[in-house]
Amino acid sequence: MDDSRARVPPLTAPVADLHLHSTASDGTLSPSEVVRRAVAAGLAAIALTDHDTVAGVAEASAEGRRVGLRVVSGCEFSVKAAWGEMHVLGYCVPLDDPRLAQFLTTCREHRRGRGEAMVGALRRLGVSINQDEVTRQAKGAPIGRPHVARALLQLRVVQSFDEAFDRFLGRGRPAFVAKQLPAFATVADLVRALGGVVAGAHLRERASREVLERLRREGLDAVEIHHPGHPPEVRRRLSDLAWALDLLPTGGSDWHGEAEASPSHSTIGDETVPLAWLDAIEVLSASRRTAA
Ligand code: AMP
Ligand code: MN
Ligand code: MN
Ligand code: MN
Repeated sequence: MDDSRARVPPLTAPVADLHLHSTASDGTLSPSEVVRRAVAAGLAAIALTDHDTVAGVAEASAEGRRVGLRVVSGCEFSVKAAWGEMHVLGYCVPLDDPRLAQFLTTCREHRRGRGEAMVGALRRLGVSINQDEVTRQAKGAPIGRPHVARALLQLRVVQSFDEAFDRFLGRGRPAFVAKQLPAFATVADLVRALGGVVAGAHLRERASREVLERLRREGLDAVEIHHPGHPPEVRRRLSDLAWALDLLPTGGSDWHGEAEASPSHSTIGDETVPLAWLDAIEVLSASRRTAA
């Protein structure tokens, strides 16, 4: 058999992953490495959506230009919700705007204080851990529970990353500390003022028609449909509601660099959206910039 023909990939429509993390927040791979892995997975475009920072986007974009991958800026914000905490993806945000920089600096300062509170709670539980061990894991990135989990793993207090969440860091566990959360409208207003697009992330079964209608009135533009935490019936309902409420669809793997998929994070390439979904987000962003 002619071996070279076997390696020709099937002709398929180009796809994108619009939810990805790097070492700029709580991911384990550098922004450049994420881009190279996206190319290897056959993607045509990505959005880098680190928590409370756009610090990885410049590196990802430069690597994207080098290897021929379209890279769009993004940031994952945490906001208040009726059920506790909701995540918002801001797409096509500028990297150098002082309003965004100031807002994110405050978020990161809150995260630093929360990191110290988690270490304090762990120490009161008898775990011998220091703040230094957590900051060393974060390497300057906004401190998140995954950095505390990795410190606990390195200290052999736990045998796995999941055990750290199950025993200490998950919501309702003894070292869980809630974030200080801004209102959804505050983040939506900011992202829109910057010419960005506001998407609701992994809403799962929370996304009732009433919830989406209210969020839309407060500035929601898009809703994440494809996400590893969404079973097929949730995707169908979100897709119907997006159509009915004139919200753009989005989606992605929420990959943090892990080798194996989990219920909330899949592997890069496992969760994709048509490139046309990204085009629609960019068109909306461009119209906002023109209007500004
Ligand atoms: P934080 O933003 O500090 O509250 O940390 C939340 C991050 O921790 C998420 O973005 C995930 O990357 C990770 N995470 C949350 N819950 C779990 C869990 N149960 N098991 C593993 N990772 C989790
Ligand atoms: Mn995360
Ligand atoms: Mn999230
Ligand atoms: Mn995420």
